[in-house]
Amino acid sequence: MAHELVPLPYDYTALEPFIDEQTVHLHHDLHQKAYVDGLNAAEKKLAEARAAGDYALVKHWSRELAFHGSGAFMHEFYWANMAPAGKGGGGEPTGELAEQIKKDFGSFEAFKKHYGAAAVAVEGSGWAVLGWQPQGKQLVILQSEKHQQLTQWGVVPLLVCDVWEHAYYLKYQNKRAAYVEAWWNVVNWADVAARLGKARG
Ligand code: MN
Repeated sequence: MAHELVPLPYDYTALEPFIDEQTVHLHHDLHQKAYVDGLNAAEKKLAEARAAGDYALVKHWSRELAFHGSGAFMHEFYWANMAPAGKGGGGEPTGELAEQIKKDFGSFEAFKKHYGAAAVAVEGSGWAVLGWQPQGKQLVILQSEKHQQLTQWGVVPLLVCDVWEHAYYLKYQNKRAAYVEAWWNVVNWADVAARLGKARG
């Protein structure tokens, strides 16, 4: 199913004077649209590759999938993360979020300083991200320097295969393909299914 450009949750002028109308217009209608189109193109090309059994360009299209997928999804978060000033935008968090921020960063002020510093220090293009780390049940501030680094932010991992050499070198040496082929024999599909169920909510 093709992805569609999610409409802005407010008018182009809604974020004025902090974010100007023209910027919102270009950013959403042109930049984000290009990511959505690119994501659809990458998914189509990978479907064609599967149909043809031809994976000569799998590296290229996987990169395109990550670049445009992350771009499309991150912008959805970005717009939804904002609201007109004084009408839902600005102020301070309350309730559970406020408590969690205080727990993990010390105070809202400390959180703002840390997040702001991370955003400013992103080298080149990228994003600052406040995320939930289920492993430590805590909030974390991350930088996504070049969102296209082969991932799609927003995607919950369901099945992962480690292809670092330490995962296979003693037995398979340089034959990574043989390791991957063997690995299919030990995949726990019930676990994968459980993760899917959880991710779907
Ligand atoms: Mn952008």
